[in-house]
Amino acid sequence: MDLVIRHIRLLGDSDNQGPIDIGIKDGLIAMMGSFDGQAEREIDGSGHLALPPFVESHIHLDTVLTAGEPSWNESGTLFEGIRLWQKRKETLTHEDVRSRAEMVLRIQLAAGILHVRTQADISDPHLTALRALLELRERVKPYMNLQVIAFPQDGIRACPDNAQRLEEALRLGADGIGAIPHLEPTREEGLASLEFVFRLAEKHRCFVHVFCDETDDANSTFLESTAHLAMRSGLRERVTAAHASASAYYGEAYFQKVLGLLARSGVNVVCCPLINSAMQGRFDGYPKGRGITRIKDLWSAGVNVSLAHDDIQTPFYPMGTGSMLQAAHMAAHLGHMMGREEVAELVRMITIRAANTLQLEDYGIGEGKPANLIVLPGQDAMDLVRKQPGCRYVISRGRIVAETQPANSRLFIAT
Ligand SMILES: [Zn+2]
Repeated sequence: MDLVIRHIRLLGDSDNQGPIDIGIKDGLIAMMGSFDGQAEREIDGSGHLALPPFVESHIHLDTVLTAGEPSWNESGTLFEGIRLWQKRKETLTHEDVRSRAEMVLRIQLAAGILHVRTQADISDPHLTALRALLELRERVKPYMNLQVIAFPQDGIRACPDNAQRLEEALRLGADGIGAIPHLEPTREEGLASLEFVFRLAEKHRCFVHVFCDETDDANSTFLESTAHLAMRSGLRERVTAAHASASAYYGEAYFQKVLGLLARSGVNVVCCPLINSAMQGRFDGYPKGRGITRIKDLWSAGVNVSLAHDDIQTPFYPMGTGSMLQAAHMAAHLGHMMGREEVAELVRMITIRAANTLQLEDYGIGEGKPANLIVLPGQDAMDLVRKQPGCRYVISRGRIVAETQPANSRLFIAT
């Protein structure tokens, strides 16, 4: 055995069988149970939890770590964010994108994320961000899996050059393409942009990842169109609608109709509770909307929902640590999901559900599967979301790729 993790518990072990040993050989999980033999390396799991790695299903790696450049978004609004990003974008270089994105990938790796789907803005003639992120995808391949989606931030109908750039992005090797229908000039143009993207994706059988209805406008109904086109094209589970904030403002009868359509379509919905709770509701009087999609209703109806951390220090969101548990913590509050089973589901939304969004094969902990797993201190999902502990160990293809020592406070008081 190359590596044995002793005394570890599996999250969601309903039979409560107690701690086990996990043996790893040649990058695969070779055995789970009690191991009596010798291994080249052993680590003590200390009764902690073993989980499959976290999955970040939506982040913009080309915008990370640019908050404050050229100036800070003092209003906190989307509009100031877009204005600032347009300025910052003018100075974008290959090296600039690559180095910032790589820095964040390292932060994510330490936080137990081994699978990342990133957006790459293609609204410049040289496809600078896309090329840098595709290069990075190959570089991190030995230990991390990166999916790159060509994202037309300035629209496809509003910025017609982007139609041809999407095709070019696929030629260069992008894993999927996106659209931003709610920011096109009119509803009709928004629909036309979706039709274009689905036609292109049908031809290439690639992922579709729509930046969908990130607005408080109840009239923004591209979630419905995305579900319809996913069915019509047969792309179904390869299609994702990210944000879907407007659905929180739909009238109940219409929401229920869209919900049924979504459930039948197989479309994945990604909710970004950190950025959207900060960005949305800006035009509301009191009481203010929560700005995030109806996670609990989507889950109950059988829609595959994942939670994304999204922005890290961007003109749109100056905070962010990369921790998936932080996104789950925010979702627990905004989604009113505090029940034990609900919190367990939130952890599934940053692991297995997000893996479904990325259509990952061989994901999960089991004998014969690739040895990708993380070890976290805690008793159960509630503990993980409540305390958001650092990953004690991150194991990728059988190799320990990150280790975090737990913080240790010492008290100096009379007892
Ligand atoms: Zn986003």
